[in-house]
Amino acid sequence: MTTLPALSSRAEALYRDYKLGAVRDWKARTGGLAIGYMPIYIPCELLHAQGVLPVGLLGARDDLEIIKGDAYYQSYICHIPRSTIELGLNGSLDCLDGVIFPAICDVIRNLSGIWQNLFPDKLVRYLDVPQNFSPNIGGRFYRDELESLSADLTARGARAYDPASLSASIALYNRLRALVRGLYALRQEAPWKVPTSELYIMLRATMVLPVEEAIDLLDAYRAGVDAADDRQPLDQARVLLTGSFCEQPPIGLIRTLERSGCYIVDDDFVQVHRWIKSDIPTEGDPLGNLVQAFLSDAIASPTRYIDQGVKGAELNSRVRTSGAEGVLFCAPSFCDPALLDQPMMVRAVETTRVPWTAFKYSENTGQFQVIREQAGTFADSIKLWSEA
Ligand code: SF4
Repeated sequence: MTTLPALSSRAEALYRDYKLGAVRDWKARTGGLAIGYMPIYIPCELLHAQGVLPVGLLGARDDLEIIKGDAYYQSYICHIPRSTIELGLNGSLDCLDGVIFPAICDVIRNLSGIWQNLFPDKLVRYLDVPQNFSPNIGGRFYRDELESLSADLTARGARAYDPASLSASIALYNRLRALVRGLYALRQEAPWKVPTSELYIMLRATMVLPVEEAIDLLDAYRAGVDAADDRQPLDQARVLLTGSFCEQPPIGLIRTLERSGCYIVDDDFVQVHRWIKSDIPTEGDPLGNLVQAFLSDAIASPTRYIDQGVKGAELNSRVRTSGAEGVLFCAPSFCDPALLDQPMMVRAVETTRVPWTAFKYSENTGQFQVIREQAGTFADSIKLWSEA
């Protein structure tokens, strides 16, 4: 069995490699197309079924000095589009045959336009997603989007769409989702066994691996943590971290939160494998199944219109299920979807009397002392004065 330190160091190398060495190797081995995608969700199953490697792009962390990327955006815009531009201009992403920009916010929409100007020979696809969840309206619209995306991939040299291949790909991604769900559930039960900083690095590594290898990695990680008898509980406060669904915090920030006395028992990181909550059926019309899962089985997100439900209800339900004793609102600076939703989410959490605190970050934040003091004080106050 591969040891946990060996798995972690492999995953961290994949996470740190913004030149996408693993993707270059895959392309050299298979000759297939590699298509990048911006957060939060794209139907990776469809790409896989056509022989395409989906590659998650989540910025450049704190590892890259942004020089040209800043020139494309105002100062009051989040950081991830700047680092993505920088990566594009410095050649780090040149192994990608295209990029999909899912509809998240105006920043991503604008980035898709800039990308089209900068890289006119590559596939640039803005993936519009429905905000109406009726099968006859939003469902038809989304199916058209997916069929057109599929045709674009074929025109670039991918295999043509074939329902049997899509069913097989859905089954594989169901397996990956189940593994991630299992790890999240184990972390809720025994957070000392699955430190969030470690789990996070594993999930980031899966962004650049083919799904088959991602499954192997998470399988090995699960076996490793199940067998890790030396991991013992500490007297830490259980917190749910929310707001970090697109631009990701630096790993140093996650480690700082853990060192300041918090067990993160639920979070919004790397949502692509958790966007669809349960297994997608593999029988019948697989493209219809993908569409239906998006309409009726996706997580609540600030980027998604809530028509029937109540804002904050899912967050409160996650707080209950995870046994969180506090909520950290942890959003990227200038992130419109997260920060516009935050007051409504705070109001919802306050109805439950669960304490909360809030701070902002940027993917290249380098100083954590202030956050350490704030989170440490929050964790101590939970331990000293919580009703439990
Ligand atoms: S961090 Fe927020 S504002 Fe920036 S691109 Fe992502 S969702 Fe949009």
